[in-house]
Formats: sequence, C-alpha cells, structure tokens
Amino acid sequence: MSTSHEAQRLLHEIYGYTAFRPGQQQVIDSIVNGHDTMAIMPTGGGKSICYQIPALLLPGVTLVVSPLISLMKDQVDALGRVGIPATYLNSTLSTEENNERVRKASQGKYQLIYVAPERLDSSIFRSLLHSLTVSFIAVDEAHCVSQWGHDFRPSYRMIAPLITQLSPRPIVAAFTATATAEVISDMKEALELRDPNTYFTSFARENLSLSVLRGVNKRNYIKRYLQTNPDDAGIIYTATRREADQLTQYLQQAGVQAGTYHAGLRDDQRKEAQERFLFDDTRIIVATNAFGMGIDKSNVRFVIHHNMPKNMESYYQEAGRAGRDGEPSECILLFESKDVQLQKYLLEQSDLTQERKAMEYQKLQAMMDYCYTQQCLTSSILNYFGETLVAPCGTCSNCTDTTEKSDITLEAQKIFSCIKRMRERFGISMIAKVLVGSKSKRIYQLQLEQLPTYGVMKDQGAKEVEDLIKFLIAERYLGLTDDQYPVVFLREQAVQTLLGNEKVYHKTTRVMSKIVSDNALFQELRQVRKQLAQDEGVPPYVIFNDASLREMSIRLPQTEEEMLLIKGVGTEKWKRYGLLFIEAIQTFLQHHPDFITTLDPIPVETQLLTPQTKENDNKEASHLLTLAQFQQGASITAIANERQLKERTVEAHLLRSAQEGFEINWDRLIPEQHEALILAAYNQLQEVKLKPIKENLPSTIEYGTIKAVLIKNGIWK
Ligand code: ADP
Ligand code: ZN
Repeated sequence: MSTSHEAQRLLHEIYGYTAFRPGQQQVIDSIVNGHDTMAIMPTGGGKSICYQIPALLLPGVTLVVSPLISLMKDQVDALGRVGIPATYLNSTLSTEENNERVRKASQGKYQLIYVAPERLDSSIFRSLLHSLTVSFIAVDEAHCVSQWGHDFRPSYRMIAPLITQLSPRPIVAAFTATATAEVISDMKEALELRDPNTYFTSFARENLSLSVLRGVNKRNYIKRYLQTNPDDAGIIYTATRREADQLTQYLQQAGVQAGTYHAGLRDDQRKEAQERFLFDDTRIIVATNAFGMGIDKSNVRFVIHHNMPKNMESYYQEAGRAGRDGEPSECILLFESKDVQLQKYLLEQSDLTQERKAMEYQKLQAMMDYCYTQQCLTSSILNYFGETLVAPCGTCSNCTDTTEKSDITLEAQKIFSCIKRMRERFGISMIAKVLVGSKSKRIYQLQLEQLPTYGVMKDQGAKEVEDLIKFLIAERYLGLTDDQYPVVFLREQAVQTLLGNEKVYHKTTRVMSKIVSDNALFQELRQVRKQLAQDEGVPPYVIFNDASLREMSIRLPQTEEEMLLIKGVGTEKWKRYGLLFIEAIQTFLQHHPDFITTLDPIPVETQLLTPQTKENDNKEASHLLTLAQFQQGASITAIANERQLKERTVEAHLLRSAQEGFEINWDRLIPEQHEALILAAYNQLQEVKLKPIKENLPSTIEYGTIKAVLIKNGIWK
C-alpha cells in the first residue's frame, strides 16, 4: 500500500476523519518520503496531524519540539485516547517523573516525544538521544526561531546544533502559522533545513464569520451578544489589563460567568483561569493578548476583540482561536478610534529601532484599513497574507450587510456645530455635557451654558450622545488628538456636513442571531463528556470535540458502525467511549420520545459520507438481517465474517432487535456464569450505567454482555 493510502487509513481509523484538510496530505507525503519540509498553515488548520501521522509511519521515534507547555500535556492526553503512545518532557515534571519517562523512552515505549526547547541541551536528554533512533523532528511554532517573529525564543537556536549531532540525520519539518517572508527565510536558515519542500495552505477558514463594528457601545453589545449565545464558550480580548479587569467585573455583575487572564495576575491565578476555561467551567474568558498561545480548546465559538490589536498578524492569530473544530464560529472586532491612539502610544514607548518602528506603523495602518474597508473582510485578510483573487466570502459583516441605515444628519450637525463653538478644545464627555445641557459646575465656570448649542440635545442622555460622538469619530467625521486628554476636532467630512453637502447615516448593529442552535441532546451529551473529562482529569475537547457531539445529536448513532461514521470517532475512541454515548443517546430518547420528530432531515451528502461502508444493505434493515441470520443458526463470528462487520456490531444489531421486541436466544449471547455476576453488580449499584457496572466486574466481561443481560432482564428498556 502506498504511503498516501496508509496515511488516509490512519486518518480514518485513528482520528475518525473522512478527508484531509487542504495541505495535510502533501505535507505528510513530503515528510514520509524523507524531505525536510516547511508547512505554513493557519491556526486551526490541522498542523498536529501533519506530524503525528508521519510519526506513526516512520520507524523509530519522532521528537516534537514545542514551546507550549500546557499544550503538550493536552496533546499527549489526546494521543493516548486514540491509542498512540506518547509522552512529554518539560519543566513541569519532577526529576523522578522525568527520569521515569526517559527510562521508558529508551526502552522504545513511545512513538512521539514532545520536548520543550529548554530541555534540549540537558545532559539527561542528550544521553537519551543516543539510545534512540530519531527518524523525524517536528518543530512546532517554528517562527519562534526568528527574531522577526512575534515570539522569539532563544532556546529555539539550540535545535539546529542538536540535529547536526544526530546520525543519521533525521528528517526535519517546521510548522508555523506566521507567513511573512522574513520569518520563513529565517526558519529555513536557523533550523538549517536542507532544501525543504514548502507548503502554504490558504489562510481561509470557512467556518469563521468575521465582523467589524465601529462606534458601538461595547459593553451593551457584548452583554447582548452573551445573552443571545448563552451556552457558548468565547474569548474576549482587551488591549490592557485594566480593561480586562473592568470588563470582567461588569460581566460578572451582569450575571455572566467570566474569568480573567493577563500578565498582571499571579502564576497560579492565571493557571486557574486558563484551566477553568479549558475544562468548560467558565464559559467566557476576558484576556489580554497574553492569553492564547497554546490554547488548544477546540470549541471556542466566538472571539470578540474589545479593542483593535496592533496588526493583522496578531488579529488573525487571536481570532483564529475560534472554531478550531471546524464548526461555525464568529470573530467580532469592536473598533474605536481610541484603540489606534493606544497602539501608537505603545509603539512610541517601545525601544524598537527606527526601521522596525516604521514597519510597525505600516502594519498598524493595514489593521486600520481592515477596520474601515467596505470590501469583503475575509478577502481583505487573505489579500494581506498574500492570497490574491479571493471571491467575497458571503458571510462577513461586509458581505451580509443587513444593517439598517437611519439619517442622522441633523443630530450630527448639532454635534459638529457645538464642537466648532467650543473651539475644538474639549474632549468627548464635555461636548456631550454641553449638548444635553448638563448643570455641572465646570460648565458654568467655563460659561459654556452661554453657547447657542447648549442643551440642543436635551432629550437624550449624556451617554447616548457620547456614543454618537464616538461613532462619528469611528466614521472619520471627527478626529481625536493624540494628547493625554484627547480633544475632538472636525474633519473635512464634518465641515461638508455643516455646509449641507453631505449626509450622515447611522448604521444600527446587525440583528443578532445565535451562532449555532444546538438541540437538547447536544447539551445532554456535553454533560456526559464533561463528567468523563472530570473523571479522567483532561479537558472535555480531548474526549470528543463539539463537532462530534453535534453530529451524534443529529444522527443518533445506535451501533458501532453508525458511531464510527461520526466525525472524530476512530476505533480507539469507539472502544473507550462509544457505548457510553450510545447509552446516553438511548436514555435521552426514552425520556424524550418526540425528539426525533424535531430533527431536520439529514442532508443527503452527509448521509453518503460513509468512508468504510463495506455493505450496501439498507441501513434500517441491517440489524434485522443480522437477526435473521442469527436465528438461522449462524454464529456471531460467522455473521461478522460474511457481512464484513465487526463482531461488536453484530452484537449491537442483535441487542437492538431485542429492544425492538424480537425474540432472541439469549444463551447464545450471554456466557452462562456471567449473567449472575452482572445482575449482582447491578443490584449492588442499582444504577443502569454501564461504566460503573463494568468496573465492579472481572475485566473479561465485555460491555456488550453487560448490556445484553440488562436488556434480557428488562432493566434496560
Ligand atoms: P493547528 O495546530 O494547526 O492550530 P490543530 O492541529 O490543533 O490545528 O487542529 C485543529 C482541529 O482540527 C483539531 O480539533 C483537529 O482534530 C481538527 N482536524 C485536523 N485535521 C482534520 C481533518 N482532516 N478533518 C477534520 N478535523 C481535523
Ligand atoms: Zn465577506
């Protein structure tokens, strides 16, 4: 079998996926065929599989160098769950743990070893290397080797000398989501890659819908958004620690479960916030850009930027943390002119060289252009990253502009004329105060109550008027100076409006709708997953991601073969969790008999997505065919062989038939001695849950037998 076919088979069997994502196959082939390789893929593009599958196909051990300590553990946990022996070495381990792992590694117990770059030159690691055959080194987040990258790590410079010492030299592959030319040429040089094959995959992420909203009241918007999507997990990025703290407080007061993450918190506080978010204990995390490197949580449904970030690279990386599982997700940027000033200020304060500063200013300008563009947002991001001729996406806020325009020329004129009369010397809040006719002392001290525009908007609240001014700033009618106390001034457009040459329209925000609407079974399965995750001490998405649960909640798999058709369910996951989820689905259906009628019919294309169907039987009748063969005397093994089914599947068919009321010769299904044991275990627990019952029995007794006994005795309906 060719390596491509092998790779394809592993993708199905181990990961439970039907097709490679763009680029994955090429990268895997290149590595397996012995070439150094560079893969530039967007966040969430699926880089891990690109080195994990070669690790399985190549002889010896694969080293994965990664700077992301928290991610290593999750990846190793996830690999364990699909049956791949892997471990990691980093500073979180005690010396004993470290030694134990090194010992096992030298005995060839692992196919993948994740290692933090700092560990590379420890003597114990060096001596380990000599006892291993390392056939492949994958360098994850390889932009860390470049000074031009946003995350330079000096320890990455130890990778190349290490490779030189290994003989024979392993294949080396570098992975990153940073696509700039400087970074790429640096990676090649600093890692001493030999004539690498280089693959770029499109940065398009079709499941993300992008929006930019200018001049909205951010807090109201966010609150409303969170109310509209009450079950979904999301990240809200703020520009500063203070804003993160304040917004968290505001949300908590509004009854939203939110955590905070920024560099001003203690290590343990940060760790806790991160874990609670990963484990689905807090739904929302409000964070600065310190949060996210190495966050692998796949079910982040939205990323809201409370402020504009400093450049498109940062923006797309952060926004890209939404929807890694490929499910529909939203990335929303709330723009305010103040954000630009903050970024300029930070740049000025930085100790970058003049040349570098100029470059950063250009990047900032591109970021602002994105915030103002009328074109498709997806296309503009992709253009920025060098992809040309991209068709409008049809899902971003510019493509789906359903905003309602209202003519606010008159109000705008009042505001502009007030600013003019105040001689363009005041900030937003003072202008609003004059317009609404505030009685504050300061107004009288400055004799602003004498102005003809004093109180001309007295039917509105000061906050509302402030929002309107901010909107006019965001739309470039007004400008804000760069001073410590920024002053509002009129731009050309405002002058034209005052002259009656231009009209002003206010766009009210898009009608908010839910990102995804999940059914009740999905919520139930999420609870099952959470419980399992808690028992096993891993984040829920390590068990199954949302995409898998969502598919289960629609397709209602009842048998092994049906379960294996669900995206993300491979053989090992089936063995570990399959029956538990089937059980949960059945219990749910018993309690909600009308549920099926509420489901939309499954689209035909997805019904046909059956990677390994070996039979063309009518699905519905498949289990009855099994039953008929069984009743005619064929053994389970014989039926399995003849119909190319797994024995477990045949068993599941029979149990399903029994549940539907067909007669079954139970003695042929249940070994004689087992029934009494199983019933005893059940009576002790008094609970129709397979896992605890199984745990109270000798390990030779299979789930299938337990279920058969429960059905036979009318305990499981
Ligand atoms: P990256 O490291 O590039 O950000 P990951 O390797 O973490 O991305 O993959 C993101 C998500 O996509 C993971 O949940 C992964 O299981 C899933 N994934 C990867 N490849 C595929 C595929 N071919 N089909 C479906 N899902 C995939
Ligand atoms: Zn678009």
